[in-house]
Amino acid sequence: MSEQTKQQYEFKAEMKQLLHLIINSLYTNPEVFLRELISNSSDALNKIRFRQLKGEDIHSPDIPLRIKLELDEEKKTFTIEDTGVGMTEQELVERLGTIASSGTLEFIRDMKENKGKLDGNMIGQFGVGFYSAFMVTDEITVETRHFDASQPAVKWISDGKGTFSIEESDREERGTRISFTLKDDYKDFATRYRVESVIRKYSNFVDYPILIGDEEINKKGALWHKQKSDITDEELKEFYKFVSNDFNDPLDHLHLAMEGRMNFKALLFVPSKRKPNFFQNEEFKSVQLYSNRVFVQEDCEELLPEYLRFMEGLVDSEDLPLNVSREVTQYSPIMNKIREVITGKVLSMIEYWAESEQDKFKAFLKEFGPLFKSGLNSDFTNRDRLINLLRFQTSKSTDDELVSLKDYVGRMPDFQKEIYFLSGDSLTELRNDPRLEYFKKKDVEVILLHEPVDSFVVPGLMNFEEKELKSIEKSDINLGEDDAAPEDSLQGEALDKLLAVFRETIGDRVEDIVASKRLVDSAATLTVGKEGMDSHMERMMKMMNQDMPVSKRLFEINPSHPLIKNLAALTEAGQTDRVKLFAEQLYDGALLMQGHLESPAAFVNRMTSFMKVASDTATKSTPKKKKK
Ligand code: ADP
Ligand code: MG
Repeated sequence: MSEQTKQQYEFKAEMKQLLHLIINSLYTNPEVFLRELISNSSDALNKIRFRQLKGEDIHSPDIPLRIKLELDEEKKTFTIEDTGVGMTEQELVERLGTIASSGTLEFIRDMKENKGKLDGNMIGQFGVGFYSAFMVTDEITVETRHFDASQPAVKWISDGKGTFSIEESDREERGTRISFTLKDDYKDFATRYRVESVIRKYSNFVDYPILIGDEEINKKGALWHKQKSDITDEELKEFYKFVSNDFNDPLDHLHLAMEGRMNFKALLFVPSKRKPNFFQNEEFKSVQLYSNRVFVQEDCEELLPEYLRFMEGLVDSEDLPLNVSREVTQYSPIMNKIREVITGKVLSMIEYWAESEQDKFKAFLKEFGPLFKSGLNSDFTNRDRLINLLRFQTSKSTDDELVSLKDYVGRMPDFQKEIYFLSGDSLTELRNDPRLEYFKKKDVEVILLHEPVDSFVVPGLMNFEEKELKSIEKSDINLGEDDAAPEDSLQGEALDKLLAVFRETIGDRVEDIVASKRLVDSAATLTVGKEGMDSHMERMMKMMNQDMPVSKRLFEINPSHPLIKNLAALTEAGQTDRVKLFAEQLYDGALLMQGHLESPAAFVNRMTSFMKVASDTATKSTPKKKKK
């Protein structure tokens, strides 16, 4: 800090917005500031304990690891002090002056757009915990000394409105002290009773003593080392909230204590609700790694496969050396083994829900289904188990009924040899799709895939119980038996002539034009040849890769539909030009149904002229009212 003793800094613009947001919308949960500050202290203590255990040289090595609160009701002051890693001057500027994660920026934008309210739930997840203290005070002082003895102690002061200052401090001990005077409305945070009850609620499991004055108030201890039977439901819920920053109760939990060839304990939770922006966040926060009760890593990706990253909690291994680095955890065979075991246990829990706790299973699928299903494309070891956990809506199910592939196959009629599906954007749209008509008539069930992930997962399954999974858009589906066309349907030469006119018109745009065996109420549709891709899948691929050409379809017309019969009659009467117009319109209509129509203008223009003709005819045939 050379000559100047005090330096002014300006917060980044987003920071001001964030502070504004916090102060104005966190008032329903002011106590979160306490949880956030304690959690920061606990993080800082974890980091120093870790260095200590590795035998590193640190400043004030002998002071006890603890968090100490000082409250003064008279002066309305609040102070929290820890003996953690502390911060250097540069770290202070960086960490308390800027927003660390890009997720935070997105979050601010979201909040502004939706005029949403912050709740305590969101704060911790976005790495903005420290600022929540500006809820309860107008000015914060942070004094800190880094564990590197050569770094000077520094003092940071800010009113949280736009600027902060940094100056030298005479702090001797390693660690961080944060102090402020409470606003009048929040002066109860200077009373012991209030503070103690908040700590019991959120910070009971902090692994370091928390003192108010000289008295230790938290019961510390590693819950996961207790016997299952000694842990109450209340403790589990409390612990979940502590590790996850979630305010809701978990959906379920898993407590593992493995002994023998592998030694580890795990306390893992499935949240009942996903966090805001869960699917947008590409970096899921994973579970924590401990080694013999000592915290090692915040977010240990190697402990779970990506598709189970909704899990919260921790794994405590007795076999890992303390000085594991990221590189070591990444390639360690122990970690692989742990991941394998945990994955199996999580799947067993989900299988149990599917069997005996339908409500939980449904709630789970609703929150995390898409991520979970993506496991089919990555976890080949557990592929069969994952396939058995797939659930769908079908042409015969209600919207909230869940049908498994096993159920589906179990009720297939004898003549049905394949498993049929249709994919699209929504259930309602799918239920009304003309391509279902034939299957309804034959009383054959069709799986309706309406979640984007389904289209990436299901076609890749290929087979289930030796039955091929097939999109009903495929042209080579034949449910046999009574497929003979109704007697009065178009056939022979008249049909051939009509097909020829269609070929002349749109023949270069499709693979071929054929008389459909499976349309019932609709006049025409597009289907996919043997090699082609399901149209929904194709549309999604196209969204990702604009240059991808759309594959050619088979255009099927319904020879028993009155319109098609009329067109045959018009062809017979030499009105081919008119028939061509109809062909164009039918083709565009079929494209539209499948989301592939690129120029709606021509379609609408044609429709308008058809309507004009239809209305002309209608007007002529309606007897005119006599004028009075
Ligand atoms: P987060 O904890 O999610 O990173 P915070 O806003 O709570 O976000 O804290 C920002 C950063 O400030 C922390 O990551 C940490 O580096 C630093 N920090 C906050 N409090 C302390 C503390 N008591 N001791 C050391 N560093 C701290
Ligand atoms: Mg924090």
